[in-house]
Amino acid sequence: MAKKNQSIVVGWDEWVSLPELGLYAIKAKIDTGAQTSSLHAINIEAYEKGGVQRVRYLVHPLPERPDVEIQCDSQVVDVRNIISSNGESEERYIVRTPFRIDGQEWPVELSLTNREDMQYRMLVGRSTMSGRIVVDPDQSMLCGELSPALYDEIIKEHTGDQRLKMAILSREPENYSTQRLVDAAVSRGHSVDVINTTRCYMNITSDKPDIHYQGVSLPAYDAIIPRVGASITFYGMAIVRQFEMMGTYSLNNAEAIGQSRDKLFAHQLLAREGIGMPVTGFAHSPSDIRDMLKSVGKAPLVLKLLEGTQGRGVVLAETQKAAESVIQAFRGLKANILVQEFIAESKGADVRCVVIGNKVVAAMKRQAEEGEFRSNLHQGGTASKVKISPAERAAAVRAAKALGLRFAGVDLLRSNDGPKVLEVNSSPGLEGVENVTGLNIASQVIEYIEQGVKRRKAAAPRRKAAKKA
Ligand code: ADP
Ligand code: MG
Repeated sequence: MAKKNQSIVVGWDEWVSLPELGLYAIKAKIDTGAQTSSLHAINIEAYEKGGVQRVRYLVHPLPERPDVEIQCDSQVVDVRNIISSNGESEERYIVRTPFRIDGQEWPVELSLTNREDMQYRMLVGRSTMSGRIVVDPDQSMLCGELSPALYDEIIKEHTGDQRLKMAILSREPENYSTQRLVDAAVSRGHSVDVINTTRCYMNITSDKPDIHYQGVSLPAYDAIIPRVGASITFYGMAIVRQFEMMGTYSLNNAEAIGQSRDKLFAHQLLAREGIGMPVTGFAHSPSDIRDMLKSVGKAPLVLKLLEGTQGRGVVLAETQKAAESVIQAFRGLKANILVQEFIAESKGADVRCVVIGNKVVAAMKRQAEEGEFRSNLHQGGTASKVKISPAERAAAVRAAKALGLRFAGVDLLRSNDGPKVLEVNSSPGLEGVENVTGLNIASQVIEYIEQGVKRRKAAAPRRKAAKKA
């Protein structure tokens, strides 16, 4: 108490907290060279509520613990141009929140900026010190440590009342995405089984739906994450449907998975919602093919097998004649293909947006190899970070919604007239996008499922009542 009006002597780095934001322990750099304090935030998203501008953002307070993610929400008090340490000017949101160090607390202003590569997640500038802090630049950590264990308790509190029984439907238990989802589920306090979809079997005539696996009846899972490969879409959908009949929450439902797999159907659904996509044509009879090609446009044209993935089954026909003969050849094999205008200006690049719920949580650009137009990583494409525009963000969210997918990878081409949706993937891989962005997407998926299960449980009594009425 005697401390109250005395300045606090601090070193050049200290543990501090922003208690109102739920950021109980952050290692901050004390920087007398900076005017405004800054907090490193990602997924910064401005919105308006009751005429007040607010901002949502995600903070990883501990650089070495990416699983600790705190979702914050603040009123925006200003938007300012801030010159960062590398001399670049950036427009940033300014928020106000209580700041605590060495037992003392006062309100401060912080700018929000996305720089995950920074060693310190917070920079304390002169305006925060406001005569209360004196810096001894030769010292470090004079105010003692705040334990990061605080966050573990918060995570536990989060899930304590809601330990879920989850299953991941995947034929590849060792796969990166499967492993990441397992780890994320476990670290959020849930139990999780990995189940090989093709080894599930069921008796659909019984009045009590269930699923058998390796000779036993599967337990009643709260939630499943279907990672159904393209080659088993049909069977995978049946299994997901059966889980749904048992009352299990499925991250993506069977119908949505099915319609996203069928490129023709998916494009029809996107078109119905007025979502931008390349001009696309489809014909059945050989005698109509020439006319259909004409309606799509001039060569070069892109031809696609309806159910191809990973760039296999996608070819570029340089001339009208080539397009016709490729179509004839495919038709001879009883394969269905669609024809698309070639978006040349995207120069072999596309943008993968990962959508969870109604948000794009991550994006990456994929660039095709030299001399190749398909940017698929399986075709030698390389991934890099990308900033997407509001139009691209909106197109991705609308596309996922049009197909009914809660979790999706939406691929866009950047064309001269805005984003064009190429396809919507119902089990997007996590490896490329997590590596490129450094984000913990697996954990965000699990968090989304927690909310989904909770919402459903809350709605269940009402649903039952409605049924009875
Ligand atoms: P797949 O399901 O096999 O990945 P896509 O439709 O996504 O099939 O096509 C594969 C890749 O080919 C895309 O990622 C993109 O780089 C390129 N591509 C596909 N369609 C077009 C198009 N109409 N114009 C330009 N490039 C295209
Ligand atoms: Mg693709």
